[in-house]
Amino acid sequence: MDPQEMKKTRAMVDRCNKCGLCTSACPVYQQVLIEAANPRGRIQLVKYFLEGKVPMSQRFKEIIQTCLLCETCVVNCPSGIRHDQVFNDVRAELVKQYGLDWKKRLVFQLLTNESLLHSSMIFAKLGRNWLVEKLAKRMRIGNIPAGRLPLVNSRPFRDRFDGVIRPDGEVKGRVFYFTGCFTNYFAGDVGQSVVNVLKELQVEIEIPASAECCGIAAILSGEGDLPLKNVEKNIATLSRAEVDMVLVDCATCGAAFKKEYIDLLKRKGMDTTQAEILKGKTQDVMEYVAARIDQLPLPKNYMGEKIRVTYHDPCHLVRAQGISAAPREILRALPQFEYCEMEEANACCGGGGSFQFDFPGVSKGITEKKIRRIRETGARIVVTGCPGCRTTIGGNMEEQDRIAVLHPMQLLDMALSGKGFDKCDS
Ligand code: SF4
Ligand code: SF4
Repeated sequence: MDPQEMKKTRAMVDRCNKCGLCTSACPVYQQVLIEAANPRGRIQLVKYFLEGKVPMSQRFKEIIQTCLLCETCVVNCPSGIRHDQVFNDVRAELVKQYGLDWKKRLVFQLLTNESLLHSSMIFAKLGRNWLVEKLAKRMRIGNIPAGRLPLVNSRPFRDRFDGVIRPDGEVKGRVFYFTGCFTNYFAGDVGQSVVNVLKELQVEIEIPASAECCGIAAILSGEGDLPLKNVEKNIATLSRAEVDMVLVDCATCGAAFKKEYIDLLKRKGMDTTQAEILKGKTQDVMEYVAARIDQLPLPKNYMGEKIRVTYHDPCHLVRAQGISAAPREILRALPQFEYCEMEEANACCGGGGSFQFDFPGVSKGITEKKIRRIRETGARIVVTGCPGCRTTIGGNMEEQDRIAVLHPMQLLDMALSGKGFDKCDS
């Protein structure tokens, strides 16, 4: 850790007054009921570690990693402690000491090598189909049956376009659309809905060919070196003066651009000027669209039966970026749908990136609670702006639930076109 940053982290953990206001809200603590696994316990542990009173050990590593980085503790802490920052600093030290698990290293190497990622997706598509056909009934990845994992796009989303997408008629705005690797390789339907809606708003869209995976999965695992090339390339591409606005459709990519890139560069003692510029230009696509919802030709006087929909707040959107109103404004504006708020909509879904695969037992209890909340609404669709949450929620639902899991922009696209309602029959 950069010595300056180490000093700041020490000062931050010293601010903990042990009030415990963060503990009861922690989803991991609610499952395991162990003091060491709640935010206060972890902060005390880090304090003792930084003071040299507790050595780095496998047990220490396990305690630090049994955390979803959901930031529920951050928003409940009266002392303003940024637990996520503290735990990420320590995770970076753990990787230096113990290295990364080989499976994660392999995945991160792939994610941080765009040409390799692009070509390997062809094999992934074939492999997944084979997996589903031959092994799906028996094989699980964490808690998720292989057959419920997202399908690989028939063709990478970005390959469908030739750089700039122009609307018919007058151009009223111009944006860069960062698709991220999930939309590019798995959720082409989400990307297409984003493009359709932005075109309705008369927006010219540029999908930068040189943008790469945001690298946040590696960063949040404590691996700062592998994703650094992606981070620097994305910052250079997207912070250029001619780019006014960068839209993202993924809560996690947005959190990377607005927060994690800056934290990573600081941790490494590097300059953050360009990263701050990128932060200022980044908007989640739902914020952009909600501010212009009146300009969209949504049907008036809809008399048909409404389909009930509920919304899950991703941690990377609601807490990391403070966005909760925009998606609800969009959903309430759709005449064909009846919006129904679920209880604890902003509670973590239990996915936490690789957390669900590292700690499937703890994750399962948290996800089951989320799914129970969704079922209670009687909704036929749950929408959320995070591909990780969609994978966790969709992957853990029962067949008989018949609840579709979509991105809010897919719903808006359906409402505008009057098509795609078959997706509501999961
Ligand atoms: S809420 Fe903040 S100050 Fe209180 S125990 Fe938790 S980390 Fe410490
Ligand atoms: S980030 Fe979430 S899981 Fe981790 S300690 Fe805080 S509340 Fe608990």
